[in-house]
Amino acid sequence: MTRPVCPGRRALLRRLALGVSLAPVAMATLRPALAAAPLLPPDSNEARAVHYVEDASAAKASGGNSCATCGLYQGAGGATQGPCQLFPGKDVKAAGWCSSWVGQM
Ligand code: SF4
Repeated sequence: MTRPVCPGRRALLRRLALGVSLAPVAMATLRPALAAAPLLPPDSNEARAVHYVEDASAAKASGGNSCATCGLYQGAGGATQGPCQLFPGKDVKAAGWCSSWVGQM
């Protein structure tokens, strides 16, 4: 003799089983998004075209500005590096600078 299972409980167990089975797929999908992009090499042609340096204090023209204060910088606050809209797929140093620096709006 089997006990009848409540439909609400059955649906809950089904959803729980689905969630557990999809968790590895979700982690595999999210892991690349959380990983940092490769740093922009300062000696690359695209970096040299805008006089990019990894240390703004070394650039006489920076005027005290850096990537961290640039309107094109998309790094998280306090991060040492982050994406720049000028260089898709690459990170720049928060302490860096280039001649395309624009103020934040
Ligand atoms: Fe840094 Fe802004 Fe130049 Fe990008 S555009 S490299 S964030 S100064």
